Amino acid sequence: MHQAFRGSILHFLDDPGQLGGAGAYEYFEDGLLVVEDGHVTGLGPAPELLPRLPRGAPVADYSGRLILPGFVDAHVHCVQTDVIGSYGSRLLEWLENHTYPAERAFADPAHARAVAGVFVEELLRNGTTTALVMGSVHAASVDAVFEAGQAQGMRLIAGKLMMDRNCPEYLRDTAEAGYAESKLLIRRWHGRGRMQYAISPRFAPSSTPAQLAAAGRLAREHPDAYVHTHVAENEEEVAWVRRLFPERRSYLDVYDHYGLLRRRTLLAHGIWLDDDDRARLAATGAALVHCPCCNLFIGSGLFDLRRTLDAGVAVALGTDVGGGTSFSPFHTMLAAYYVGREGHTKTGMSLTPGQLWWQHTAGAAQALGLAGVVGNLRPGAEADFVVLNPQATPLLARKTAQANSLDELLFALIVLGDDRVIERTVVSQAV
Ligand SMILES: [Zn+2]
Repeated sequence: MHQAFRGSILHFLDDPGQLGGAGAYEYFEDGLLVVEDGHVTGLGPAPELLPRLPRGAPVADYSGRLILPGFVDAHVHCVQTDVIGSYGSRLLEWLENHTYPAERAFADPAHARAVAGVFVEELLRNGTTTALVMGSVHAASVDAVFEAGQAQGMRLIAGKLMMDRNCPEYLRDTAEAGYAESKLLIRRWHGRGRMQYAISPRFAPSSTPAQLAAAGRLAREHPDAYVHTHVAENEEEVAWVRRLFPERRSYLDVYDHYGLLRRRTLLAHGIWLDDDDRARLAATGAALVHCPCCNLFIGSGLFDLRRTLDAGVAVALGTDVGGGTSFSPFHTMLAAYYVGREGHTKTGMSLTPGQLWWQHTAGAAQALGLAGVVGNLRPGAEADFVVLNPQATPLLARKTAQANSLDELLFALIVLGDDRVIERTVVSQAV
């Protein structure tokens, strides 16, 4: 059945780079989005497309609203939903004091289901329609988040953590159990509807060489599954990896050695990498996920986007809840702008509103190998989109009314926006 949505419609086709970014986006001030069986079948000016709609097709009128693709959150921990806003320490203490105890509770499937329901609703309430999700070491945490995502019709990529050392006993699997449980979950979930699996060693310090080798074996056996982990987030962590793997050139080289760098590998953070690492990422097609809210909150450092992009590495944005402080893509885009700025201790760049939006929608989809599937509203894409209200708060109404260009409008939303701006989130299978 056809359905149509009328409003101001914007989506990105390429990284817009500089202000203006002509050719990188399409904008229809009075636009029409036509959806059939959960897929976009038409997009263009409303006066042109309306007469071609089948008779009786419903048209939802969002005049005065902006329709954009749903956001893609490329790194988030479902099991840390309740860890958000935990005060204090740096990464390794933060894991010990807050994260590991919270993850322990996911051995109980009822708890896992309850949190997964809240998590998925938070994503959608904030306009996120696709997410790459880390579970806990327990398979039940992954079943729960896939079930919750499936019930909402959204697209999720998730995996159980593999961790067999340097973490509390109660969160450990083994190299073999981690392999076998991941394999079972891949069979159960990968490619089922909109669900896809991510092979997820937590990070190099919490896996033995035998477990990293098992993860590499899984990655070889399932080339279309994802690999999802953390890399070079914090200086103490990097020093620890150097002690644990003295024979490897760098933290990234540990993953490379075990066959974990390839397309569909997403590594969160990547703050403390060097140019050789970045060249290796570009050569293998592995992508980085920039999680600025988390990096600022935990004090891990400032991601060097300029050098990363110059090296040809794909970058997506992630909230990294619960080290991240918000499910809101607006907060993440604003934090990415702060971190990117000139004047810090690294190469500076003023990210344009279009670049920020690109990295949280179509650019993130591209980094995930999902270009053309989600992230923009080209015909054929899955119809995941958000309806934004630029007048959601008094200050936003005042500011957006003064916008003289699309960039000014988008930047006002990035700086002042949050979940109040999201009037509606639509996911493909629910249309
Ligand atoms: Zn993380």
